[in-house]
Amino acid sequence: MSEQAPIVIVGTGLSGYSLAREFRKLNRDVPVVLVTADDGISYSKPMLSTGFTRNKDADGLAQADPDTMAEQLGVEIRPWSVVTGIDTEARELRLGDRSLRYGKLVLAWGADVIRLSLAGNGLDRVFSINDLMDYRAFRKTLAGGKRIAIMGAGLIGCEFANDLRNGGYEVDVIAPDTALMPSLLPEPAAAAVQQELEALGVRFHLGTVVTSVNHAEQGVTVALDNGEQLAADLVVSAVGLRPRTELARAAGLETARGICVNRALETSAPDVYALGDCAEVDGQVLLYVLPLMACARALAKTLAGERTEVAYGTMPVMVKTPCCPTAVCPPPVGADGSWQIERDGSHVKALFLSAAGETLGFAVTGRFAMEKQALAREVPPIHD
Ligand code: FAD
Repeated sequence: MSEQAPIVIVGTGLSGYSLAREFRKLNRDVPVVLVTADDGISYSKPMLSTGFTRNKDADGLAQADPDTMAEQLGVEIRPWSVVTGIDTEARELRLGDRSLRYGKLVLAWGADVIRLSLAGNGLDRVFSINDLMDYRAFRKTLAGGKRIAIMGAGLIGCEFANDLRNGGYEVDVIAPDTALMPSLLPEPAAAAVQQELEALGVRFHLGTVVTSVNHAEQGVTVALDNGEQLAADLVVSAVGLRPRTELARAAGLETARGICVNRALETSAPDVYALGDCAEVDGQVLLYVLPLMACARALAKTLAGERTEVAYGTMPVMVKTPCCPTAVCPPPVGADGSWQIERDGSHVKALFLSAAGETLGFAVTGRFAMEKQALAREVPPIHD
């Protein structure tokens, strides 16, 4: 390998691997090193909430091991390597008592799951699923169990509810809000998804929270704030994610909700970039695949010598609840306008219209979900 300090990418999730792939399309020579805290196996994270529907366990969802990825991409990959600090003056990463010099550094280290502080002695049965290793542990512990309680009725909670029902499990969903996916869907669309999930057999306990999880003779007892007690074998916590900012902040990088970067994905430190779930791009934290792919393409060009700003188009999100196909393109935060709703049972077409009649966002369920592509073309891109 040449003496040139490498481009170091921290993280081998979709952001890290997509960036490496895009960069190698433009440059085969500059050394690239990927370091990751996990096993470095390549997988598509959105597939984690489809395992039962597709009849795939963790091994079935794995796409390639790190040796295969290293060979395919012409990069070095260091699994099980936890970054513990960044020295932007010395251009070095700290990995415990080791260090690694970088020419350019890319932070693609994702987001942490939010963990609720719950009472009880059964917290070893509470699982968060935010990567393939979590999923493997969850499936292993689930073996033999039949009853799952899910905390959270956001996109991930609802997707797991549908998938686990498809796998034949009994599913209870507990959430403080009174509607599903409140940050994504207008109420009629949320009600449609709830109706179809209930028809599938999912039981909802909305407007309340889990207070404790205790071991019972079989599995655990999940106590709710409203006085209900549920029997479960496992609890899945799907209450949200928080971009990983701590190490970046400690290194003096500007952070807010995420690691602050401009549209060229540049942090406040020279030659340090960020993308994916850890990044706040020009004020926006979008924990989805489409934005990170757009960032990977732009940043690859920048790293190859042509400084390029990312331009987000429209970013529709498909909710993987096959019992009620759903697509949503939320209107910009604070946009002026109102929802116009067409509803036929659980088939809902909700358009967020400006005063001038322009479509600024939409949510479609059931048979209207087929219109998502046409509607996405009507919505103005996030960046001009
Ligand atoms: P991650 O995949 O989290 O990767 C982070 C990497 O950084 C890992 O390799 C980790 O080991 C490493 N790392 C972290 N800390 C350190 C450290 N200190 N040192 C070294 N390495 C470190 N989005 C959609 O658009 N559509 C969907 O349908 C969809 N479905 C989803 C379903 C589920 C169940 C989940 C959990 C998410 C879903 N998402 C979906 C979101 C999408 O998957 C994520 O936005 C995306 O995968 C994030 O990729 P990432 O590479 O930024 O982060």
